[in-house]
Amino acid sequence: MRYLITGGAGFIGSHLSEELLRRGHEVFVVDDLSTGSINNIRHLKTHDRFHYTVDSCSNVQLMAELVDGADVIYHLAAAVGVKLIVESPVRTIETNIRLTEIMLNHANKKKRPIFVASTSEVYGKSTDFPFREDGDLVMGATHKGRWSYACSKAIDEFLAIAYWKEKKLPTVVARLFNTVGPRQTGQYGMVVPNFVKQALSGQPITVFGDGKQSRCFSHVSDVVRALIGLMEKESSYGQVFNIGNNNEITIGDLARQVREMCGSKSEIVFIPYEKAYEEGFEDMPRRVPDLSKIGAAIGWKPTIALPQILRDVIDFYRREA
Ligand code: UDP
Repeated sequence: MRYLITGGAGFIGSHLSEELLRRGHEVFVVDDLSTGSINNIRHLKTHDRFHYTVDSCSNVQLMAELVDGADVIYHLAAAVGVKLIVESPVRTIETNIRLTEIMLNHANKKKRPIFVASTSEVYGKSTDFPFREDGDLVMGATHKGRWSYACSKAIDEFLAIAYWKEKKLPTVVARLFNTVGPRQTGQYGMVVPNFVKQALSGQPITVFGDGKQSRCFSHVSDVVRALIGLMEKESSYGQVFNIGNNNEITIGDLARQVREMCGSKSEIVFIPYEKAYEEGFEDMPRRVPDLSKIGAAIGWKPTIALPQILRDVIDFYRREA
């Protein structure tokens, strides 16, 4: 099969490319390298079934050609990372909505099945734990930049579902919860690579807020398996799925665990949200996925627990250093 991956030089896209190649498929990547990096796909460049183009999905002619040559599309290109979103809200909103419009439009012309990546951010401030795909989404006020990401991704979801309902375009949406693994950069705010880099370099480990907020982290290889499994089943079309892990840890405990596993003497410091992000920043105190839908649909569940996830990230950054 020929797979087109937008954002294929990103953290998740590069792992997806790798796994699809490993399974014998042909992979076409398009990435404008805005948050992705050529380093992520350097090891794939010599592979004879791997092809990449450095360009934006907003290059309509290029996308028409690439979509035409693909059997299945993964649309992963998006503005991601809370820091990036708070600092560049215009870029976030425009990238996330416009690129998805373009990709769905092209996919529809050729009726190619397309996966649209969404995010657990869309659950917003909901306290209806664990989050189910049919639960209400609870957003904050529009002058708080963070929510523009959630809303832009919610629009992507509406659009993907609308294409399925109205035009019978096979679309699949997945809400990715905190995904971690080698190659993820802390540049755009993600907590695990940041903590690991801080611990390994002896810098203070920066916990935002009081550290009592919790998250569930999943390994990118588990996530990639889910992405592939979902697109292999026609019963996924028109559906929204959570992909994540339901083992929770507070960010304070995460900082301690990372410090211990790195054998680090870094101090753990607590930084108020308004200093870390912006005045009035709202964080989610918890974020837990209900995984029963994807379990029933494709028999998927996460297999890699947090200690192994952290070991992989620590090993990656030790090698990088
Ligand atoms: N966080 C932190 N220190 C950092 C980066 C993030 O304490 O250097 C916190 C952040 O405020 C949030 C959690 O870690 O409560 C997860 O942040 P991340 O940006 O990785 O993902 P989110 O779940 O917010 O999308």
